[in-house]
Amino acid sequence: AHLDRIAEVDEQVGAFLATDAEASLAAARGIDARRAAGEQLGELAGVPLAVKDVLVTTDMPSTSGSRILEGYMSPFDATAVARSRAAGLVSIGKTNMDEFAMGSSTENSAYRTTRNPWSLDRIPGGSGGGSAAAVTAFEAPLALGSDTGGSIRQPAAVTGSVGVKPTYGGVSRYGAIALASSLDQIGPCARTVLDTALLHDVIAGHDVHDSTSLDFAWPSMAEAARGGADPASLRGLRVGVVKQLQASGVQAGVRTRFEEALALLSAQGAEIVEIDAPHFEYAVAAYYLILPAEASSNLAKYDSVRFGLRVEPAGGGTVESVMSATRAAGFGPEVKRRIILGTYALSAGYYDAYYGSAQKVRTLIQRDFSSAFERVDVIASPTAPTTAWRLGEHAGDPMQDYLNDATTIPANLAGIPGLSLPIGTAAEDGLPVGLQLMAPAFEDARLYRAGSAIE
Ligand code: GLN
Repeated sequence: AHLDRIAEVDEQVGAFLATDAEASLAAARGIDARRAAGEQLGELAGVPLAVKDVLVTTDMPSTSGSRILEGYMSPFDATAVARSRAAGLVSIGKTNMDEFAMGSSTENSAYRTTRNPWSLDRIPGGSGGGSAAAVTAFEAPLALGSDTGGSIRQPAAVTGSVGVKPTYGGVSRYGAIALASSLDQIGPCARTVLDTALLHDVIAGHDVHDSTSLDFAWPSMAEAARGGADPASLRGLRVGVVKQLQASGVQAGVRTRFEEALALLSAQGAEIVEIDAPHFEYAVAAYYLILPAEASSNLAKYDSVRFGLRVEPAGGGTVESVMSATRAAGFGPEVKRRIILGTYALSAGYYDAYYGSAQKVRTLIQRDFSSAFERVDVIASPTAPTTAWRLGEHAGDPMQDYLNDATTIPANLAGIPGLSLPIGTAAEDGLPVGLQLMAPAFEDARLYRAGSAIE
């Protein structure tokens, strides 16, 4: 049914970069056969899964939305994908994304435009717009994404779906094409909090292949989501509202829905507490130094020899001219911009002024969160300051995209978990608005419990 749905709508929606109907059907039949033979299979066995193209898989090309990896076939599956397959999930395709996960609209993909299923002239968010659109357009019930600065949560918000960035290290990054390693986190997308939790349980847990993966006995997120289904579970929950996250730039209709959500929470017995986080206003600036610095280092491996594209300049060339011609042709403008920014920020004489200062700001933001969580159980904010903008509306002005990340970036800088769930539509444009909940590191289950109570 999902393959039929993809055939029916994906020409318009543009969520997928690759599908393999035959292989998916064969995998699904394999699950059926095992079930028929009496094997006890997990809750998600046989459920279709869309996979953001940032995760490498053996069944289809893995491009991270870039020409430089066009047609690249990985010899192994990313851990999140391998665990999904082991749980019986059936991969039905790779989803579109901003090139190397740099962006907030999926318009930086080198391959195709993805449209917001709510309104086809609008962006689906980014960088994981393909996964969010696939889920929202009923092309897949579950999807995997990556969140470095909001790429799971912001697409969820603008498409009216649910997305979670787990605690940093909660899900293995092995086989995730790296953007900024100290910020990158793999996580689940779905249409309901419980569905998201079920996928989270499958992919979470320690992995020897990722040295930053946490060796921790995670509680069941699905159990937390089921436990929260009763709104009475909100009684006594202390919900922090960060002054700095309501600052200028929040669209009127987004603000209205957010305030309504707070009023509903307090009507259910939650306590709303105003929180001051004085360093959040520097989060975007710090992030857009740390991310390009790490990205410029991570992307150095695309050298025309080891991976993907190789362009020979006319008349043959030296190692350097082949590398240069390959990168000129293979990287898009946003990727080039960030590599230049990152190498500049890391260069001798500038390192302390830029990268060093940004790292200090990062520590101050972590401290803002720590003192906030002494007073509250969760922090709530609009997931994104605006609803989905029109395709092309931010063209030539990347700063507008960057500023849209102000609400999601703090959680990545601090390594804490964040969940986005839909809370209705904005009056002025009828487009979905997301509520973001954040919790201290390791407390992902708290988000699922509160999220399903609010849902
Ligand atoms: N908008 C953020 C950026 O462009 C999102 C990155 C991400 O989470 N992959 O950096």
